[in-house]
Amino acid sequence: MRVTQISVELEKRVSDGDYGSERSQATLTAWIEPTEDSLECLDQLMAQARVQVEADLRASKNLKVRRAVNPERRLCSECKRPLADSEDYEHEACGEIRKERRAREEEERRERYRLEREERQRELEKLPVAVGLAEDEDDEKSPF
Ligand SMILES: [Zn+2]
Repeated sequence: MRVTQISVELEKRVSDGDYGSERSQATLTAWIEPTEDSLECLDQLMAQARVQVEADLRASKNLKVRRAVNPERRLCSECKRPLADSEDYEHEACGEIRKERRAREEEERRERYRLEREERQRELEKLPVAVGLAEDEDDEKSPF
């Protein structure tokens, strides 16, 4: 069997965010030469249909439609490089790096807190014991 003709049909419908939608559709048919690979030609034809349909929707007057056709690139929260579809918000390796950094930061925070507490304790130990003096001093300064 020799394929002589291929055709693709692509339809994309995007919600306009206001109970409606916009739709673009492309139907392309091509005759192929005996020397051409039909699957390759099919890929090319589909790519052409996709370009047409997405360009239609990108030209929409509706912001929600334009945004749906131009999704923001998903970037790793750690290294800011693009994510694969299988990854949620960070690369697996980047997740490990982040966990290690958080653990180190937490350890540093605890160590700082421990040093501050020791310093406060030393300051308190240096103060003379002056219980009961404060009330008398207040009485002397009072204009009444
Ligand atoms: Zn990453």
